Amino acid sequence: MITRTLRDIQSMVDGRGLADEFLDIMVRGVSTDTRTLQKGNLYIPLKGAKFNGHAFVQDALDKGASAVLWSETEGNPPEGVPAIIVDDTLRALQRLAHRYRNQLSAKVIGITGSNGKTTTKDIVAALLATTYKVQKTEGNLNNHIGVPLTLLHLEEDVEMAVVEMGMSNFGEIELLSNIAEPDAAIITNIGEAHLQELGSREGIAQAKLEILSGLKKNGLFVYYGDEPLLASRVSSLPLPEHVLTFGQGNENDYYPESVELRASGMAFTIRQAPNRSFFLPILGKHHVYNALAAIAVARFFDVSWENVQEALSQLHVTRMRMEVIETKKGWTIINDAYNASPTSMKAALQLLQELTGYKKKIAVLGDMLELGDREVEFHREIGAMLRPEIADYVFTYGELARHIALAARPFFPDGRVNAYEDKRALAKDLLAVVSSKDVILLKASRGMKLEELLYDLQ
Ligand code: ATP
Ligand code: MG
Repeated sequence: MITRTLRDIQSMVDGRGLADEFLDIMVRGVSTDTRTLQKGNLYIPLKGAKFNGHAFVQDALDKGASAVLWSETEGNPPEGVPAIIVDDTLRALQRLAHRYRNQLSAKVIGITGSNGKTTTKDIVAALLATTYKVQKTEGNLNNHIGVPLTLLHLEEDVEMAVVEMGMSNFGEIELLSNIAEPDAAIITNIGEAHLQELGSREGIAQAKLEILSGLKKNGLFVYYGDEPLLASRVSSLPLPEHVLTFGQGNENDYYPESVELRASGMAFTIRQAPNRSFFLPILGKHHVYNALAAIAVARFFDVSWENVQEALSQLHVTRMRMEVIETKKGWTIINDAYNASPTSMKAALQLLQELTGYKKKIAVLGDMLELGDREVEFHREIGAMLRPEIADYVFTYGELARHIALAARPFFPDGRVNAYEDKRALAKDLLAVVSSKDVILLKASRGMKLEELLYDLQ
């Protein structure tokens, strides 16, 4: 993580006001939260909707902060405190991260897209880690605060930094891309998340393409070639020297020549690596695409095919993303309750349809949140595509998911599709139906906390 004197820090944030006696103090790391602050950190107080971090400056110093930043709009910092005055602490955090990034020799890989950012980030990092010293975004720290913190967390000797970039509105990815100046960028796909703010899927595509704005001219751009909204726009944009696409279609640079669904993951082959079969221990064809994007980046940075193959097969995925749980009672749960959007919901249902070897298939589907004015329509669409070949039983949870049930009912025998707004009641009825050798898919937006069902179901 960043280790600099306060003299350096003051210059990197374009700050002022630090008393001479403090100039040679060393800072190690930064923190915006006194609850997780480590001794020696620079405390950067941010102003949120509920709290103003400036109120916790003394708290931060008591906990061992080496110094603090201070927004000039907050008046004067307390007397005798090692404080650097800046125009705005959030902008100072972003400036510091940007300048630190440019002092490092690490290559940065930026990843955005509606679905699959975290999964792709984890795969890219695993592939690169066979050959380089790698650091990646921890968890989901992917916004205007998380990306700077991720960059400031990088060690000086890191060779590859894999950075997730999220957004909910125009201009956000542009900001993140300009802060991180990636050497390689991936757009995983275009879905429907944040439709409310961005107006249309065209708007979403445009917002994701902002990742090009900070991308190095001699860098690599990798995008989902099956998405017409990307393919049609890309040609009119200033592109870096190297561009690669991935997807299902064989017009893509990376596409699966064959894909096979196995009990614990996906086996696939690609044209670039003849006579080699890859195994990805995550269920779902969509994750093969995430892997292809990751392979494109890894090969660009000269990771060998042996290492790609080995690292893919050894992958550990973050919990609740297509997590396969074999219960003691003899049924299997596919826990994909981490999040949901129409795109990822359809992908999960397609997977359920393709699964074989189970007695009954049961889909437990909760609300997909943050979809804007057309939220009901999106739920109805999911319901209208459900068929007994996909799931023998459908249980919905939540007010919006009720529309899935309503639209699905005509396609099912009586009693096979039921809607709930109470998890306990759902669990009780589900337990009355499920038996050994069945498979249950859990899928909903994060806010629905569908994983709470696991306690009853295991
Ligand atoms: P967030 O916006 O919450 O950070 P994310 O973009 O990081 O999400 P993941 O956490 O990797 O995405 O995956 C979220 C959900 O999307 C999971 O249910 C996963 O199965 C599904 N998903 C992952 N990749 C794809 C893809 N390429 N296409 C469709 N769905 C996907
Ligand atoms: Mg994520």
